[in-house]
Amino acid sequence: MTQIAFIGLGHMGLPMARNLLKAGFGLRVFDLVPAAVEELEKEGAQAARSAADAVRGMEVVISMLPASRHVEGLYLGDNGLLAALEPGTLVLECSTIAPESARRVHQAAAERGLQMLDAPVSGGTAGAAAGTLTFMVGGEAAVLEKAQPIFQAMGKNIFHAGPDGAGQVAKVCNNQVLAVQMIATAEAMALGVANGLDPAVLAEIMRQSSGGNWTLEKYNPWPGVMENAPASKGYSGGFMAELMAKDLGLAQEAAQVTGSSTPMGALALQLYRLLLKQGKGQRDFSVVQQLFVE
Ligand code: NAD
Repeated sequence: MTQIAFIGLGHMGLPMARNLLKAGFGLRVFDLVPAAVEELEKEGAQAARSAADAVRGMEVVISMLPASRHVEGLYLGDNGLLAALEPGTLVLECSTIAPESARRVHQAAAERGLQMLDAPVSGGTAGAAAGTLTFMVGGEAAVLEKAQPIFQAMGKNIFHAGPDGAGQVAKVCNNQVLAVQMIATAEAMALGVANGLDPAVLAEIMRQSSGGNWTLEKYNPWPGVMENAPASKGYSGGFMAELMAKDLGLAQEAAQVTGSSTPMGALALQLYRLLLKQGKGQRDFSVVQQLFVE
């Protein structure tokens, strides 16, 4: 069975690595936080003392780190991991990072004779635990073919978005749409309620009308409208506002590179920055509702 090194065992990485173990892959794991490594060791993974230790002799390396700087810090430079990998090793970089940053790592990997895919995910911690993540993959189709069994152990929908960096572009486009929809829904909910409507009635009318969207289907931001939505649990769990702000920032960076006009994305970023300034960065991103009611 394929031997995999997994680096970055946070909210997403830990359950993803666990699913690889369950699928029978050989796994060696590393995180800067020893407790996460110990947890997986108890479940049958080998524990590594460093990233370099984790990848020694492995055929595949997966990373799931917070942001571009962590990924570039891990892989690039004289002491970076790419320099330590055997030619032919497959690198699956699953963090959400800037497309430009992903392309830098792709290029350095290619220069070393390594195969790499950028493969950010959607589906949150619940999807990571259930093994139903969506992977948006950038890189060569033949390399994706090789990686399919690994992605399928962690996800349900695996899309080839295009060449190097394309997975990251797809991810930031998707999250920009999600943020804009969430803000528009929160704004309309507050408007309707202020004008005397019952929030549940308004939510249902919009859901079944032309304003219907994913946030009205699955994730209403008004507390009490959907029992299991983070809004009904004090905006806990779910997808943190600070991660949404990060992704909106990446979308703006990508727009800067190409000169694209993204006014809705820019406004969404400003509103999420405001939430961060209010100390709400760690709450679910539907907490944007509170900008319109407090
Ligand atoms: P997290 O902060 O919980 O986990 C990141 C982990 O990486 C931490 O455990 C940290 O200790 C470790 N780490 C950082 N630098 C390291 C290094 N040099 N070597 C080893 N370990 C290192 O973050 P997360 O929520 O798991 O998210 C990971 C990525 O997935 C982010 O890019 C995020 O945007 C993306 N993402 C998150 C979600 C979500 O719902 N949480 C959903 C989709 C995508």
